[in-house]
Amino acid sequence: MKEGRKGKGEGTEQGRRKTATIRVGGLAIGSGHPIAVQSMTNTPTQDIRRTVRQIRELARLGCDLIRVAVPDQAALAALPEIIRKSPIPVIADIHFDHRLALGAIEAGAAGIRINPGNIGGRERVIRIMEKAREKGVCIRIGVNAGSLEKGFLTIRRKKGLAEAMVASAVRHIALFEQYGFRNLKISLKASQVQETVRAYRLLARETDLPFHLGVTEAGTLLAGTVKSALGIGLLLNEGIGDTFRVSLTAHPREEVKVAYHLLGALGLRRRGVEIISCPTCGRCRINLLGLVHQVEKALAGCTAPLKVAIMGCVVNGPGEAKEADIGIAGGKEVGLLFAKGRLLRKVPEEGLVEALMEEIAEMGYPVGLSSV
Ligand code: SF4
Repeated sequence: MKEGRKGKGEGTEQGRRKTATIRVGGLAIGSGHPIAVQSMTNTPTQDIRRTVRQIRELARLGCDLIRVAVPDQAALAALPEIIRKSPIPVIADIHFDHRLALGAIEAGAAGIRINPGNIGGRERVIRIMEKAREKGVCIRIGVNAGSLEKGFLTIRRKKGLAEAMVASAVRHIALFEQYGFRNLKISLKASQVQETVRAYRLLARETDLPFHLGVTEAGTLLAGTVKSALGIGLLLNEGIGDTFRVSLTAHPREEVKVAYHLLGALGLRRRGVEIISCPTCGRCRINLLGLVHQVEKALAGCTAPLKVAIMGCVVNGPGEAKEADIGIAGGKEVGLLFAKGRLLRKVPEEGLVEALMEEIAEMGYPVGLSSV
């Protein structure tokens, strides 16, 4: 493939990469629809009570799709009840055993994630495909750098990891398309950011199927957030990606929170409160960090998109945060309340959070003043 050539599904700086639309349960995925946030439960799947509780918490935070691991029969047996009780579409994550994939489809999963390279050969992939077609279930082809089939290791050695992952994905896609099955989304995951980004860019030239993005084994909360924000963020900024998971070695609620921060920072999708706060400097005369924590806590349940600025001083505060819906600029033991850069009133430091919440409530946002 020549450098610079635009393929059928390649993103542009002007907008989102054009893709087909697929359905995962009631959720449409593709360029005509909002970018969907995914996470994965980390409870033992057979523990139905804990798994459902976690799914519900993630759904409340804005998770659109949830993936659960189905590594054995015990997990498979739990799946129907989990699916019935889940407020969002459930995707079953399957490796190695095609019977688990068939069982998960029968159990009512909205989607399944398989790596066709480790599911036991072409015939088994076709059986899964036919069952998915019969039940209207979406399949994610998940190519993973760590489990590339032997046949692609030469490409990896000669051309690179991204090229090998793309070659593997292209071959799998061709098999599905040969049978007229396009209820597919594709992922190409590696733990190296550049290789992951390069792989998705290359694959975008080859297909118009929607992409699930992720940087696998990204790491702990801080390191993983940086890696994911870079990898996923670069691609989303180029219009590539229709659904994604921020993989973190942390509670999955952090994955969902980071996902919305990422989407918000790129201006792609907003949900909940965005706090703009300054780093503070020698001019700051209030306890800004304490203030930010209090405001964050008080607005934790607010799902409406709202920008709140909390700035350390009046020198730059209101001006720097003109884009905010409402904000505070600190003074000496007082704070100035302002909206869209316009001064509202002066409030003593101890009453600042309450005054801010009152103003936000007056603007029509649902806030619980009791939590202040
Ligand atoms: Fe310093 Fe004021 Fe800027 Fe905060 S807003 S960093 S306190 S100058």
